[in-house]
Amino acid sequence: MPPPLLTVSVKLPGRRIKVAHPAPGGPARPDELLPFMYAVDNAVIAVGVAQQRAQGRTITCSKGCDTCCRAQPVPVTPAETLALTRRVQAMPAAQQARVRTRFADGVARLRQAGLFDTLMRDEPTTSPQQALAVTATYFGLGLACPFLEDGACSIHADRPFVCRQYLVTSPATLCADPLSAPVAVVPMPLRPVGAMLKAATAVAGRPQLTVPLMLALVYAERHHDELQHTADARKTLTAWLENL
Ligand code: SF4
Repeated sequence: MPPPLLTVSVKLPGRRIKVAHPAPGGPARPDELLPFMYAVDNAVIAVGVAQQRAQGRTITCSKGCDTCCRAQPVPVTPAETLALTRRVQAMPAAQQARVRTRFADGVARLRQAGLFDTLMRDEPTTSPQQALAVTATYFGLGLACPFLEDGACSIHADRPFVCRQYLVTSPATLCADPLSAPVAVVPMPLRPVGAMLKAATAVAGRPQLTVPLMLALVYAERHHDELQHTADARKTLTAWLENL
């Protein structure tokens, strides 16, 4: 049985939007609520894009442009690390082997570069300067996302919040090095990642922080038990909506 349809009214600056999408009831893990949250996020993003277009700006992102997928750390929430792990587990064997190899290679490069412990949040960064240096080193490695296949996202419908929200109106080539280039990112009306971290913290019983997508599989394995925690689905969704 598919989950029942849930309709919510989401408050944006100056307006409200209604979103209807299936959502589980009863006890649920935070990752099980992601399809509903992504549907809300898509509707919010559509508003952000419409605002840009109304101001005469053009979104330069398009299918076939993979610049941002080839260098950026792509922070994902812990719940998304589990969702991505399950997505990989569901892939046909040959594709799964390819994707797992890319993840393993990327993790090895991060270990060699001395970034693994910091990015896994085992060793907190001690200053904004250190955090910036870590990000700059990450960009320098030029790690392509393991889900990138033939220049396109192979998990497009299930891509994380950050991938959905990252849209630009500046030339796409600048996205290869946004630390030193003036990238014009489309401002989005709401912040679903921070809201998810807050909502999931209550479920996990421990502060939830983002990690780079490249570490998703190792993070989900290391935090397996914590990511299995459940709470009332409606309560978690309400917390998420209130923190958007
Ligand atoms: S998940 Fe998809 S959209 Fe996101 S970085 Fe990877 S390939 Fe790009």
